[in-house]
Order: sequence, then structure tokens, then C-alpha cells
Amino acid sequence: MKNTDSEKEFTTNVDVLVVGSGPVGATFARIVADQVPTARILMVDAGPQLTARPGMHVKNIRDLEELNQAQIRSQGPTQFKYNAPSFAERASAASKRGRERLETLARPGTHLINPSDDDLDASNMPAAAAATNVGGAGAHWTCACPRPGNIERVSFISQEEWEQACTKAEQLLKVTCDAFPESIAGFAIQQTLGELYNPILPEDLKVRAMPLAVQVREDGTLYWTGPDVILGPLVESASEGNNRFELRAETICRRLLIDGDHINGAELEHLPSGKRETVTARIVVVAADSLRTPQLLWASGIRPRALGHYINDHIFNMAGVALSEQILERARSTLEAAGRLNESKRLSSESIIGVFRVPLHAPEHPFHAQVMHLDVSPIPVDRSQLRGDPRHIVGLGWIPLKEIRFEDYIEFSDTDTDYFGMPKMTIHYGFTEKDWAALEAARAEQRRAAAAFGQPLDTPQMMPPGTSLHYQGSMRMGEYDDGTSVCDSYSRVWGLQNLFIGGNGVIPTSTACNPTLTSVALAVRAAEKLATILQGT
Ligand SMILES: Cc1cc2nc3c(=O)[nH]c(=O)nc-3n(C[C@H](O)[C@H](O)[C@H](O)COP(=O)(O)OP(=O)(O)OC[C@H]3O[C@@H](n4cnc5c(N)ncnc54)[C@H](O)[C@@H]3O)c2cc1C
Repeated sequence: MKNTDSEKEFTTNVDVLVVGSGPVGATFARIVADQVPTARILMVDAGPQLTARPGMHVKNIRDLEELNQAQIRSQGPTQFKYNAPSFAERASAASKRGRERLETLARPGTHLINPSDDDLDASNMPAAAAATNVGGAGAHWTCACPRPGNIERVSFISQEEWEQACTKAEQLLKVTCDAFPESIAGFAIQQTLGELYNPILPEDLKVRAMPLAVQVREDGTLYWTGPDVILGPLVESASEGNNRFELRAETICRRLLIDGDHINGAELEHLPSGKRETVTARIVVVAADSLRTPQLLWASGIRPRALGHYINDHIFNMAGVALSEQILERARSTLEAAGRLNESKRLSSESIIGVFRVPLHAPEHPFHAQVMHLDVSPIPVDRSQLRGDPRHIVGLGWIPLKEIRFEDYIEFSDTDTDYFGMPKMTIHYGFTEKDWAALEAARAEQRRAAAAFGQPLDTPQMMPPGTSLHYQGSMRMGEYDDGTSVCDSYSRVWGLQNLFIGGNGVIPTSTACNPTLTSVALAVRAAEKLATILQGT
């Protein structure tokens, strides 16, 4: 590949420049390449390429040391291995300092956007983080891909178009509900949640396994979806070094070049060599995550009123529970009566039993609940108190809807820069009375579920803001250019004919479910529009 060799001739004139190689940038590239096979696409990413296959999920790396190194290489300014903190340790991160605080706040593969103690003290979103590597956070994510619930969906996109875009997104991401085979503990979780919530949920939204972006290979092992899967045939195209698709790692986009209502191209810098180059492009896509897409627009002098505003993050509220013996026994009996026990028994020794969800459906259940069987408890547990199989600990995450406000915003500095030399960001963020009430209601549900499962292990813990890694709204789409949005429903920046943006930041609604499927679906719709523009010019 040409991506790390500063001596090679780079393409300087392309049809489409894509900034950012995460799932959303990959979606734009793939859809455009499928629909306009002659298009020359250049994708750049500020971070290094971690694996021979670009954008592969690091969980697919079998060797543990190699996996650790891949995570560390994605961590920009914090090139060391983090420990896995408990919920309680993470919740009390503010009391720690220096490296200990960084390790507690950030997740492996990511780096805080402002890692110094002073910056962390000043920030209202201390856990705000990103991944800087080919594949972006999409090489590190958990791959949960639920469709958004009724009031989470973008209301100004028609139901029909939305369904089509979602289906296409699920195909690109290889979403399945069958990643984990049935087991007694998994069935017990689903059965218990079903009894509590199925009566209030519509037929198509009953409690079930979480849709996950993963493929089950013939030998039963899992291949987690990273952007390599979305890029599909383009991965080979990139390796062959042909003109159709080129991916340059460690190449940051410093500035977009504006001419009236058009973007002419961009100024790129190959970070290891410091070599700068201008690339011209007919259409530019910026999919550099919810924090750094607005940052690049700001650095380029594109500063609509809503840019960086309305930022919101899922309120991560976690608790743990040990499955009671009665629950497990009841599940076992039910499976036995249904003649499904033998298979379940065989599989119940799997270390991970699965991920389940109770979908958001307002007003009956205005929360997204993610319920995970945990092979290693993230909660300090006195195991002597646990009866039965100590592995059957379940993490309960009940996420409420956050109120969206203009006052929650990213401030970009015109004088100070971050680790990558881009405008320094400070996030101003807070909770309203409505937010606290929603959180309390979520906790009540969480306690109810914990009581039904058995033995609660801890009181629910609220993680520091930013922990969810689901930052939305910072470059939101809107129906009209009325100052409350940055782009139209096709992700085209208002007032600029050929600049598209993508990522969780374009989601305009308050959501509680994991956002990537929504962002990829919005990118599908945007990329199809982009392709028609390309064909028409
Ligand atoms: C540990 C973890 C678990 C997660 N679990 C889930 C989950 O279960 N479900 C879910 O829906 N979401 C999850 N997420 C979030 C998910 O990863 C993101 O929603 C998704 O990756 C967003 O895709 P993206 O392409 O918009 O951005 P990213 O994947 O973040 O990619 C953006 C890329 O842009 C690059 N970049 C930034 N600035 C520049 C620049 N100026 N020039 C060049 N390149 C630049 C970055 O290096 C990065 O590679 C998780 C994230 C993490 C880290």
C-alpha cells in the first residue's frame, strides 16, 4: 500500500476525498464505488494502519500481545496499556490524577481528547475520547447495532427511505442476532427480561438478543465487523495500489479549501514525514468522528452557528447482578421441556453467553437497556457471597434520553492546539432537571430488573460524561437551514454544494440506543445522493 511511504507519488486529483476511515467513511467509499465504478476515491486517516488488512477489528487479532499493541497504537498521545477498571473505579475517576486517571477514564484503543489533569479538571465531559487509527473507533467497538426506537428516529426522513437505509446498513455491517449460541444462562436472562418487559412492548420489539455486527465463521469462531468488512472489495483494490481506491494512513487533513459555495480540495499532511500536499477533489466527505469533524470544519473557516453545539452523550448508568440459582434452574427446566436442553448444556460453558436488549419504545419504556453476561465481573464482588456459578454475573445498563440543548457545546480554540496540532477542544456540558429525573426513572427500572434476576451486587453507578463514546448532535442534520443544524438530511453542509459530513454527530434527535447503525444508515442515504451528483457532473 502507498500509505506510509512519503517518497511515493500521491494522487493529487480525485473524484471523492474521504477524511476518516471509520465505519462511516468506509460506508461512503463503498456506496460510491459500487454506484460509480469509475470514481477515483482517496481516503485519508490521521492514525496508523494497525493490521495488514486495513480497518480490521482488533478483536480479530488472535495473539494477545499483538492485540494490546494495536490498541496502544490507536491511542494517540497515551501510548501505554490501560487497566480494566471496575464500574466503581471509573465512576470515581475525578479523585485520581495523572496516568492513573487516564487509565481509569479511557477505554483501550481510545485516547482522551484532552489528557492533561488541568484540562480534565476544566472539562464537563472528562471521558470524551477518540480512536486515531485506520478503522477509527470501528476497529475497537463492541458492535451492538440496534435500530433506533420510535422517538429516536430522524422524523424528517420518510419511514420507507429509513427502512431501506437501515437494511442496507445492516447488510454492510453484517448484523446478526445469532452470534452467540443458546445457553441456559443466556436463556435465563432473556426469559426474565421478557416477563418484565414484553407485556408493554409492541410485537416487533420484544426482548431479544442484541443485534451485533459480527460473522460466525464455519468453525464457530467470530469475525467482528470493522471498516474492512464495510469496504469489502475496496480493501483488495487498495492493496493492489490501483487508481480506484487509495487509503493513506498517518495522513491528517489540516484544512478544507473553500471557494465560494464549493470545496476545491484539502490540505493534507503525512504526519511521520511532515510532508504537506494539496489534493483537489470534486466532492469531499468528512467522517472524522463527532468531535473532529466539527474541529476540521472550524479549522477550515466553516463555522455555522450550530457547529459543535447540541452535543450529547449517552448517560451511562451501570449496575451488576448475579443470576440466582432459581432463575437458572427455571431456565433449565423450560429448555428441557422444549427439548432444547442438550444443545444449551453443551454451550453453557462458553465464557460469554451473550448480549440482550430491551428496546426503547416511548412512552412505555423510554430507555435503551443493554444487558450483558460478563465473563469477568467489572464490579468488585465478594465471591464468597455468591451461590452457584460465579461466572453468571450480568451487567445492566439502562440508558435514559438526554435533553438536547444549544448550551452543550464544543469550544474550539483559535490559539491553542491539541496533540495533533488541530484547534484545541473544550466541551461545555451539563445536566438539566429533566435529565436527572430521566436518570432516576432509568435507575428504578434497573433496580426492578436486578431484583428479578437475583442478587444485586452494587448500587447503580453513573459513569463520567463521555464514557459512552456515543457523541451525537455536534454537527446535526436538519430539515431547514435555520441556524439549528449544520447539514441537510443528506448530510450536505448547508451553503456548500460538495461537502458531505458523516458520523454520530449528524444525528439530530435524542437517542439512547447505540448510534453506529443509525450513522451508517444516514451515510448510506447520503452516499447514494453523492453518487447521483457525481454521475450528473
Ligand atoms: C470501545 C468502544 C465500544 C463501542 N461500542 C459501540 C457499540 O457497541 N455500538 C455502537 O453503535 N457504537 C459503539 N461505539 C462507537 C462506534 O465505534 C462509533 O459510533 C463509530 O466508530 C463511528 O464511526 P465513524 O466512522 O463516524 O468515526 P470513527 O470510527 O471514530 O472514525 C473516525 C476516523 O477519523 C480519523 N480522523 C479524525 N480527524 C481526522 C483528520 N483531521 N484527518 C484525517 N483523519 C482524521 C480518526 O483517526 C478516525 O480513524 C464504540 C466505540 C468504542 C471506542
